[in-house]
Amino acid sequence: MSEETLYQYLMWGFVLSAVFTLPILLFITAPYGRHTRKGWGPQINATAGWVVMESPSVLMMLACFFVGSHSWTAGSVALLVLWLLHYINRTYIFPFRRRGGSNRMPLFIALSAFTFTSINGCLQGRYLFTLSEGYGSEWLLDPRFIGGAVLFLFGWWINLQSDAILRNLRKPGEKGYKIPMGGAFRFVSAPNYLGEILEWTGWAIATWSLPGAAFAFWTFANLAPRALSNHRWYRETFPDYPKNRKALIPGVF
Ligand code: NDP
Repeated sequence: MSEETLYQYLMWGFVLSAVFTLPILLFITAPYGRHTRKGWGPQINATAGWVVMESPSVLMMLACFFVGSHSWTAGSVALLVLWLLHYINRTYIFPFRRRGGSNRMPLFIALSAFTFTSINGCLQGRYLFTLSEGYGSEWLLDPRFIGGAVLFLFGWWINLQSDAILRNLRKPGEKGYKIPMGGAFRFVSAPNYLGEILEWTGWAIATWSLPGAAFAFWTFANLAPRALSNHRWYRETFPDYPKNRKALIPGVF
């Protein structure tokens, strides 16, 4: 079987799994963070879990870049830089800056996420640097790249700002949860997830690719149900929770 055929199978399997995952996550909230509960098997250190489960995003992409047949072009390098901007923070900085709270996570979650990031890194990287028609310097002036990159960076900024607001709710060593205020929390309960969804929607546009769109869809399938669970949890936990705050999309839901 040729790599192109194998790639198509893998990509459509990836899309199909997101279609099934979305409704499942509406009923079963992934058991980590505030939704941690017993019955999900052995637990591991959460910081180590984050580093291990996110690392394939960095390593797989770099591996695909270095073995790719058209990697060293301005457009390809620009897309790699966007990807690494996000994933170096998510993999090697974010986990070490989290404060207090739950420091264990189910091994099952780390393994599932590791599988996901390995497949996704391979799908994105092989397409960008080998299977696509290439992203030359002219791509940097294409409205799809410019619009997508702007949306990506806007989403990244919201994601970083929201992660920082959450982190600063706890003093070092402190546990427990508070009502987050300011930034995009004025509008929604999960602006970190909203930022993440905007980022990967921007990525889909900037790469103008099916794997990019598949990843954006997966991110929505994963994070929209969790935003709804977090929103419900805030409302049940804090009687004074802001009434007009939505879950994920300002003014919508
Ligand atoms: P959460 O918002 O659940 O938690 C982020 C951090 O903030 C955790 O350390 C958490 O502590 C703490 N925290 C959250 N709410 C409060 C609060 N009200 N008071 C005090 N501390 C709080 O985010 P996730 O852990 O689900 O995700 C982290 C990042 O990873 C996000 O930016 C998200 O977008 C991204 N992500 C991306 C995915 C994708 O599919 N691309 C999938 C999953 C995450 P504790 O751990 O104790 O709850």
